[in-house]
Amino acid sequence: MATIITHPLMPIVVAYVIGREKISTRLLIAASIASIIPDIDVISFKFGVPYGDQFGHRGFSHSLFIAMIIGLVSLLFKPYFNCTKKHIFALMFLGTASHGFLDALTNGGSGIAFFWPFTSERYFFPITPIEVSPIGLSNFLTARGASVLWSELWLI
Ligand SMILES: [Zn+2]
Repeated sequence: MATIITHPLMPIVVAYVIGREKISTRLLIAASIASIIPDIDVISFKFGVPYGDQFGHRGFSHSLFIAMIIGLVSLLFKPYFNCTKKHIFALMFLGTASHGFLDALTNGGSGIAFFWPFTSERYFFPITPIEVSPIGLSNFLTARGASVLWSELWLI
């Protein structure tokens, strides 16, 4: 991952690009949570799934396919979000997909399985200026974590 602090910035940027007044606060909070959800896959380490496996870290949960599913399922909550379907899909899809985009800009770990389930191949962007974040909040709250956060905030 990039850090759990910078991922939620992406849907917030999207909301302001669309026009903040068109996006309900509920939708913005949901999209911010969605931007962190792909890293739920770190529990796969506990089950012994190898990093490079399609169900390992940065695998299927970081794919555009899953982002699309989250975008589509979110449409069921239209009355709760109180926004247009177009805006709900845009925020939830881009919010989730932005996670993989940020991760693909990091300089370590494994690439991102953007095109799962069509291929499990892992991708990075050609430039990777973001220092990879240590996994887990306890590791994050260290000097190295601080330098990672600094590199992200500086760039993003
Ligand atoms: Zn990640």
